Amino acid sequence: NDASRSRLRIAIQKSGRLTDDTEKLFKNCGIKINESRDHLLAHVENLPIDILRVRDDDIPGLVMDHVVDWGIVGQNVLEETMMQRKVDGMPTGFREVMKLNYGDCRLSVAIPQEKEWHGLADLEGCKIATTYPFLLKRKLSEQGINFKPVLLTGSVEVAPRAGLADAICDLVCTGATLQANGLREVDTIYESKAVLIGRDQDLFPEKQAIADLIIPRLKGVMAARESKYIMMNAPKAMLQQIKAILPGAENPSIIELEGETDRVALHVVSREKLFWETMEQLKALGASSILVVPIEKMLD
Ligand code: ATP
Ligand code: MG
Repeated sequence: NDASRSRLRIAIQKSGRLTDDTEKLFKNCGIKINESRDHLLAHVENLPIDILRVRDDDIPGLVMDHVVDWGIVGQNVLEETMMQRKVDGMPTGFREVMKLNYGDCRLSVAIPQEKEWHGLADLEGCKIATTYPFLLKRKLSEQGINFKPVLLTGSVEVAPRAGLADAICDLVCTGATLQANGLREVDTIYESKAVLIGRDQDLFPEKQAIADLIIPRLKGVMAARESKYIMMNAPKAMLQQIKAILPGAENPSIIELEGETDRVALHVVSREKLFWETMEQLKALGASSILVVPIEKMLD
């Protein structure tokens, strides 16, 4: 029984912004990666899965070349690589298995703080430093704007100060890096999050069985992260109003309270974030002992 047929091979970022969240997600799914981050290939002990740790830039290609079955990568890297590979005449097929709830960022244009800005047309003829020339070109071509890409794979934000470019197009999360470099964000080219992708080919049945086991676990862990278990005591007379303001909640369980005739306990799973405002409204409706508890795992 050859390992390449029977063990699901997943490529993840070796070390970077996606690594911690990916490892945490796997851990919560019961995928125990024992080897340290220095090992290129980590054997998962409790499941027939092998983890390949690589640079994030290599992940789309490994999936598209059928070297791995699954990969986790930012959509920005996925799309950029796809456009590059099309130009190079390489295969670009893949399947999106699911979007993940981390790795959110945006690809934005930023210019020196003191420069005026009227719109993307200001970039006509400019030198723009970026790691993502294809994504940038796609956006600017749509508007008939020509520019000169300056390709940098790191420290893009110092390019204007160093006199290498007039503007940059780089990934932004909070904007703190831009500000620290005297730049201001003026337009968003692309919004990205992490995705789980798979090869564009049916898996061997043994591998498909592992995928079928893991996919509901991944969905369950992500759903749980958004969800809360809410408990409270409430007047029976107010149950309809209370149910109406609980966000994304299924039918609550109503439990008798010993020695009380007009109050009950209400337990419910809420699929959305519960805000303080909602809790205060619940209290105003007569609810008491309101508890909001995180959920670790969930299986529908
Ligand atoms: P590698 O060494 O694997 O090539 P890298 O330096 O190219 O790493 P990271 O900075 O670790 O990449 O980012 C990986 C991905 O994380 C990005 O492509 C993007 O999808 C996502 N990401 C999330 N938040 C941010 C952020 N604030 N800045 C940059 N990337 C972010
Ligand atoms: Mg990279």
